[in-house]
Amino acid sequence: MVGIEPKADRLGIEVRNPADGTVVGEVPVDSAEVVAARCRELRLFQPDWAAMGPQSRKVWLMRFKDWMLDNAERITDVLQSETGKTRADASIEVPASADLTNYWARNAGKFLCDDHPKPHSLLSAAKKLTTVYRPYCVVGVITPWNFPFAMPGMDVVPALAAGAAVLLKPSEVTPLSAVEFVRGWSEIGAPPVLALATGDGETGSAVVANVDFVQFTGSNRTGRLVASQCAERLVPYSLELGGKDPALVFADADLDRAANGIAWGGLFNSGQVCVSVERVYVESAVYDEFVDKLVSNVRRLRQGKDGDRYQFDVGAMATAAQRDIVNRHVDDAVSKGAKVLTGGKPTGVGTFFEPTVLVDVDHTMSCMIEETFGPTLPVVKVADETEAIRLANDSSYGLSATVWTGDKDRGQRVARQLEVGAVNINDALINAFSPVLPMGGWKHSGVGARFGGATGILKYCQRQAITAPRIPTQSRELLWYPVSRRRVKFVLSVMRAAAARGARRFGLGK
Ligand code: NAD
Repeated sequence: MVGIEPKADRLGIEVRNPADGTVVGEVPVDSAEVVAARCRELRLFQPDWAAMGPQSRKVWLMRFKDWMLDNAERITDVLQSETGKTRADASIEVPASADLTNYWARNAGKFLCDDHPKPHSLLSAAKKLTTVYRPYCVVGVITPWNFPFAMPGMDVVPALAAGAAVLLKPSEVTPLSAVEFVRGWSEIGAPPVLALATGDGETGSAVVANVDFVQFTGSNRTGRLVASQCAERLVPYSLELGGKDPALVFADADLDRAANGIAWGGLFNSGQVCVSVERVYVESAVYDEFVDKLVSNVRRLRQGKDGDRYQFDVGAMATAAQRDIVNRHVDDAVSKGAKVLTGGKPTGVGTFFEPTVLVDVDHTMSCMIEETFGPTLPVVKVADETEAIRLANDSSYGLSATVWTGDKDRGQRVARQLEVGAVNINDALINAFSPVLPMGGWKHSGVGARFGGATGILKYCQRQAITAPRIPTQSRELLWYPVSRRRVKFVLSVMRAAAARGARRFGLGK
């Protein structure tokens, strides 16, 4: 970058491994002035990036993808060091990001093509109609701590593929993976259209204050702040927020699969996934059998600080504050009559919290209504499908859900009654790996969506309508001055006829 930046004017952030508290790195806290300067610089380079077109951008994105794959082990070490994830959880982020990069790079050309919609009526038939997709100049991507490399992979890459420049602001808890992400972009020698701003909420707010579109992922509380700041500036935004995803297990389900899938869907990444299974509703006929299977699955899990040897199933929580939220939810449930069947407390080492199954829970308990974002699975017995759907929908969140049933029609029927942005039938989390599907939250879980094929790239573009004559023009159109009764009447008649789709209301001469 061409040294036009003021120096950071606040203290840096020390990054620690939450599994054992060791210091693993440090980043600056970028001030509002630094953020503004980075944004100005991105604005200088973005027009060439946009003008290059999707095919040339694809070359850089594919090189970036190769860089990710070539450096996967090292990046995984970094992200594991700042998150305390198991190796298995940490290892997914780089290949998932590479896969997404591949998808956006290969499809951007097709997605960004001009549209030539058919004229809707005779009056516009004389025009060539075009919709053009032109990228926002600078997109601010603000990410949380739960997937520090994959979140930029999910949101930075499609914005770059669209032709925007990107200012990435990672969480202050896990900024080191984002440092790697941006380092990779510059190591391959790509145009300087991706920059980093590290710091806390103030830095994030400075990003919102300077960019042209905000792609935010994080908590509902911060999402609201971002939305109001965007509203003040009249800049568009997309919010990917929290969830309280229900799993609905029906009596006709393959219970082994359901108990395995729900254990993984609830405890993967120590439950710190926006689309984690956070509550489970089980039809009474199979409740006892399902709970036995789930508890025995969860009891078997090995928990600890992993090296690079894939020894453990469940890792640490990313922060002590997050561990304390989980603890509070379990304590609140127990104080209101819930039973802990396994787990239920911090291990006492680092930020680890035992994988937990709770029963006798209800919707008066925080573990059933607030996002826990931890390794807990509260399970409720329900009478039937109707009750399962009613309780699943009894939430201010609407991110996603899982439905477990042996009946294909029932799976579809139930899915279509759930008030959520995505439903996985007989599987968990899997929609998050399908960029061809929209991934967005209903209700308080978000505004807008990421992914969704073409819309995943077009959201980073402004749409421009262009009309041009199709046929030779005259010196004046029928409605141009001076007003003529005869010409106006003729135009109105044609409009009436077009609207009426027939001669009945042609109204000529009236
Ligand atoms: P958070 O809201 O605390 O922080 C998210 C980001 O916002 C961080 O980079 C933070 O520094 C920044 N920030 C804080 N204050 C800001 C402000 N005023 N203006 C701009 N930026 C600001 O969230 P978190 O604790 O890091 O992440 C956990 C949350 O993220 C959970 O609720 C989880 O469900 C959600 N999440 C959602 C998705 C999804 O796709 N829906 C994916 C992952 C995580």
